[in-house]
Formats: sequence, structure tokens, C-alpha cells
Amino acid sequence: MTPSPATLTRVPLVEVFASIQGEGLYLGQPQVFVRLAGCPLRCAWCDTPGSWATPDEGGRARLDLADGRRRVPAWASVEELAGWVEAADPGGARPVSLTGGEPLARP
Ligand code: SF4
Repeated sequence: MTPSPATLTRVPLVEVFASIQGEGLYLGQPQVFVRLAGCPLRCAWCDTPGSWATPDEGGRARLDLADGRRRVPAWASVEELAGWVEAADPGGARPVSLTGGEPLARP
């Protein structure tokens, strides 16, 4: 199936928030998390099955930014994501964790 232009320029999002990495190589490091929606895998160890579904056009995502929380349309452009990452970490000191869902499933 050929992706539509919209799926090439936007990604489905679950949430953007700043927190502390809780696993892996960067355990304990402050990061901004961009959790994408949609995952074709079904890992037995998955702790975020709520991210498996790909939202429809009416879906909503959560933002937990430095100036408060809000909900936005779940399909976001890269430019929108970049703005929300900056708003989650105004100082720009935190690395960004792209997580899922499965980010590598997206162009
Ligand atoms: S969200 Fe991550 S851990 Fe969960 S099934 Fe998909 S790839 Fe596996």
C-alpha cells in the first residue's frame, strides 16, 4: 500500500512530555519524550499497548509542556512536534527520546 501524502508529512502522536528516562543506556537522564502512536509489532514485554493503535483524523494527543497541559490533534507535522519539544523543555537542555508506538514504522 502506498502511503498517502499526509502520512509522509505528519506522524500520529500519543504524547509529548519531559521526564526522566527509566530504562536503557540513558537511565536517569532528563529527556523530552515524543511518544508516537501506531505499532505493527506486538512485543510480549510491551508496557505501552495503548500506543499500538493508529488514531484516525479525529484522534487527540496529550501535551505536557512547561506552560501547562493541553490536547491537540493526534496527527502532527514535524514542525509542530519540534515546537512542542521546545515548549516541553524551554532551555533546550534535554535530549529527545522518540518512542512508541514504533517510530521506525514512520517515513
Ligand atoms: S510499542 Fe514498542 S515495545 Fe510495544 S509492541 Fe511496539 S515496538 Fe514493541
